[in-house]
Amino acid sequence: MFKANANYLKLPGSYLFSTVASKISQYCEENPEKAGRIVRLGIGDVTQPLAPSIVAALHGAVDEMASAETFRGYAPDLGYDFLRETIAKCDFAARGAAISPDEVFVSDGAKSDSANIQEIFSEDARVAVCDPVYPVYVDSNVMAGRTGVYDEATGLWSNVSYMPCTRENGFAPELPHPDEDISLIYLCFPNNPTGAVIDKPRLQAWVDYANEHGAVIVYDAAYEAYITDPALPHSIYECDGARTCAIEIRSFSKNAGFTGTRLGYTVVPHDLKDADGVSMRDLWARRHGTKFNGAPYIVQRAGEVVYSEQGARETGEQIAFYRENARIILEGLREAGFDVFGGVNAPYIWLKAPNGMTSWDFFDMLLNQVQVVGTPGSGFGPSGEGYFRLTAFGSREDALEAVSRIKAL
Ligand SMILES: *Cc1c(COP(=O)(O)O)cnc(C)c1O
Repeated sequence: MFKANANYLKLPGSYLFSTVASKISQYCEENPEKAGRIVRLGIGDVTQPLAPSIVAALHGAVDEMASAETFRGYAPDLGYDFLRETIAKCDFAARGAAISPDEVFVSDGAKSDSANIQEIFSEDARVAVCDPVYPVYVDSNVMAGRTGVYDEATGLWSNVSYMPCTRENGFAPELPHPDEDISLIYLCFPNNPTGAVIDKPRLQAWVDYANEHGAVIVYDAAYEAYITDPALPHSIYECDGARTCAIEIRSFSKNAGFTGTRLGYTVVPHDLKDADGVSMRDLWARRHGTKFNGAPYIVQRAGEVVYSEQGARETGEQIAFYRENARIILEGLREAGFDVFGGVNAPYIWLKAPNGMTSWDFFDMLLNQVQVVGTPGSGFGPSGEGYFRLTAFGSREDALEAVSRIKAL
């Protein structure tokens, strides 16, 4: 009889969002008169429609596909040159980072890339992640057999190094002890879920650490478009030496509304070599060629337009809209006396539950008393216990309404 992959069986259920959903539906059943009042600030998905220039590019590309002369079949595995060249120029050269188009790998999004990237590292590579963390980094390593077992009591996996991100360290992790012998470090800034950012000297310290100790940093920059502070780095390649120790992952989801359209990319520089001189860029190209047949032409054309003058202006307005929601939530909760973090260079507001409440107690209180829904911080890792995540991706009315209700608590 066949057997399932035992690594997958180690995974606990993904309880966070299903528990949130079942608590909401139970509440609505018991309080049907309040069901229409619920304000959802738990969503990690954008809500504004695609910008006009992007829609026009999609339509234009569809028309090309409808004619024999301009029809396109399989896209190049690594992405169309027009998009890779635009990315290299606008996302990197413009920031003084030397990345060539053939180091850019276009994909269907940052989730798949951040889950798949571990495949090109050795099976015994030790992984370090932040706590709290976007769950994809750990779960993909569990599936690959790189972790031990999950401990329900602590909420931690064995054979994984956790880097607590707490109020004390400004929600920025400290460098692991060299004895931990880490091979793969996942960092995400601006951060989901805490909304924390990293400044250039601190990011440089990570790059120096990785180069010194032979580790690789997987840098998830899905939220770089939310950075307003000109002193903050948008790319890890703004740091000296990052080409020999870093992989960067980007997404068109949060800056241009592509969560349903799907587009992202990963940068693996030629200079990233393992202990035996193996080019990780070539391995990732090999992997892409075997397991991926390219992002759709139509979508890559739409992605190209994000960098045009009109596209940048339109998507910039959408980001500014979400950022204003974040400001409303952040300042409103601060006025209400909450300890609040993030929300300035990120679409996430991370707040401390009052009076030592747990994340889930606070979730229940907000749902029951004011019908506002957020995400319990403990769902992102044990160091998230006692915290709560609100997102700025809803409507302006929702942001204002949620703040006024929480203030009235
Ligand atoms: C939303 C998000 C992404 C983007 O994922 P896509 O697959 O490109 O939609 C990546 N990383 C983090 C941390 C995110 O929150």
